Amino acid sequence: MKHYCYDCGTVFDDEEAGTVTEHHPEVHADEHFPCCPHCGSTEFGDAWQCEECGEWFGDEEFESFSGICKDCLKGKCTPDAFLRYALDSVKEDNRASVLEEFVFESMWGIACPQDTCDELIYLLADAYHAHKYDSGFRKLIYAYFDGCNCGEWDDFGEWLAEKRRKGK
Ligand SMILES: [Zn+2]
Ligand SMILES: [Zn+2]
Repeated sequence: MKHYCYDCGTVFDDEEAGTVTEHHPEVHADEHFPCCPHCGSTEFGDAWQCEECGEWFGDEEFESFSGICKDCLKGKCTPDAFLRYALDSVKEDNRASVLEEFVFESMWGIACPQDTCDELIYLLADAYHAHKYDSGFRKLIYAYFDGCNCGEWDDFGEWLAEKRRKGK
């Protein structure tokens, strides 16, 4: 595990770490602590690397979505990918699907009906396709994810990771 300096952002491993020495004259002893080789700070933690862009983060700031950073996750959240994710989520758990919620609430601004059927899903997918290249459409998707307090970004990250594992 590499370390990440919270003060200057340097990433280093154990061998590269510097040493700071604290003198304790009262007991005639020195204490040694590992530190950042660049700035000498002892404030460091675990370093995490985004599997997609390769950028390093400190554990305090790295929000990992199945190994990738939020920026990369957003980059992969194209209208086409979102639709596939939404349709897959219907198959999986049959919940008032992501697609229904998104089209009704985010695109049309009206409440999502309680009961829907398969035919409706296809109609909604058509409506979605008709508008997916509209300007601001991606922002609508981001806002939808941001507005879900059930960890929808995480779910999307897992879905992407699953696709990666299957090599699609
Ligand atoms: Zn440093
Ligand atoms: Zn990244």
